[in-house]
Amino acid sequence: MNQKIEQKSKVRIGLECHVQLATKSKLFCACPTKGEDIPNSRTCPTCLGLPGSKPVLNKTAVDFALTVALALNCKLNREFFFSRKTYFYPDLAKNYQITQYEVPVGEKGFLEIAGKKIGITRVHLEEDPASLVHEDGAKSSNYSLVDYNRSGIPLVEIVTEPDMSSPKEAREFMDSLLNILNYLGIYEHGVSVLKADCNLSYAGGNRVEVKNVTGFRAIEQALLFEEQRQKAQASKAGVLRETRGFDAQTGVTYSMRKKETENDYGFIADADLPVVKVDDLWVKKIKSKLPELPEQKALRIAKEFGLTEYDAKVIAQSKRLSDIFEAAGKIDSKIAVRIVSRELLGVLNYNKLSLEDTKVDANGISGLVMLLKGGKVGDKNAKESLIKYVLEGILPEKFLEENKLLIDSSEIDVKGVVAQVVSENAQAFSEFRSGNQKSLNFLIGQCMRRLKGRADARQLQKELEAMK
Ligand SMILES: [Zn+2]
Repeated sequence: MNQKIEQKSKVRIGLECHVQLATKSKLFCACPTKGEDIPNSRTCPTCLGLPGSKPVLNKTAVDFALTVALALNCKLNREFFFSRKTYFYPDLAKNYQITQYEVPVGEKGFLEIAGKKIGITRVHLEEDPASLVHEDGAKSSNYSLVDYNRSGIPLVEIVTEPDMSSPKEAREFMDSLLNILNYLGIYEHGVSVLKADCNLSYAGGNRVEVKNVTGFRAIEQALLFEEQRQKAQASKAGVLRETRGFDAQTGVTYSMRKKETENDYGFIADADLPVVKVDDLWVKKIKSKLPELPEQKALRIAKEFGLTEYDAKVIAQSKRLSDIFEAAGKIDSKIAVRIVSRELLGVLNYNKLSLEDTKVDANGISGLVMLLKGGKVGDKNAKESLIKYVLEGILPEKFLEENKLLIDSSEIDVKGVVAQVVSENAQAFSEFRSGNQKSLNFLIGQCMRRLKGRADARQLQKELEAMK
């Protein structure tokens, strides 16, 4: 079995994903995690790391970490504690980061993507360091500014087994993970930051880690570069075990240092923080609050709205998309599935946008589905209004009304237009009479053009059939 997998892919990829948790206050102090963008305005002695300050654990952050661990099928540790990871860098003034090393919140879980289980080694909680600001870019600035607003924001770190066999699969894993975090409501798109350390080894060679890559695209790019670099290197001197950085602008990884070992960090238990004991009642509470996750949602909406398994999975891929679908599907599930899973996703893909970049919501899409159901708008104009909605945030109803694209049968002389088109296209009409589908489409197209799309194609076909 292992040999089989080995033959299929020579690449093994593991990820360490760091996700900021959407708590109101920081992990060990009461400073807010969000607010005005004034550097060092959300700080106190604890998150500045001043001597004598004492950390106090934020229970909500622990709740969130337990939630993530459960959603990723991990075994929960009922007793865990925090450790100090020693390192010297300006982003951590107290010279150590409070993290978990010996006993994490949860371990030995998995996340299934496209039928394949990716092992989750551990899920643990730690604090984010401060951010370093380089005014003229990291390479050209001759000084660094430190902003401690980020210092102490809770992070959950999700470490995977090296189970992914291509950069594409790593990307799919991240997509799936983010989707679950969105469902759990502990991650805020556009606000929370997702970063990863990625490791890749080629053909059983040395493992190379690429540190601190921010964003999905960059992670996939860094892995693609490493795959090619290690492939070339493997046939020469071999791959060196090391830690590398990634330059997102050039898409290239570069050597930072020879890989340090965990021992170099000198972990010691943090005596300022208590041992956390998770009793049955606490676990029960977290479990009762676990929302429906993508897989369960796909099964339910497939049954409830009569969707194909494929459509249900596509829609359940995103919480926001499925919320939109469920609202619109109550009006007409067939039209809703077409608009949501084909038209809307088509427009987003074409414009390389994600739903989160737009103002599209359940209200706007439901309005459009209602118009389509009532025969108030033709398919072409419906699509046009959807494009405007995605790109400019103009509600479809408003766009169609303002541009006089709604069908009002009392105002429009459909019969008259059909008769005129037939008399002007006698040849096509006689071909249609002898059963030519292309001629029918041509005639409908001519009518539509004259009616500026304010007609239903099925109605036009009926009128044409009646004239046969
Ligand atoms: Zn603070």
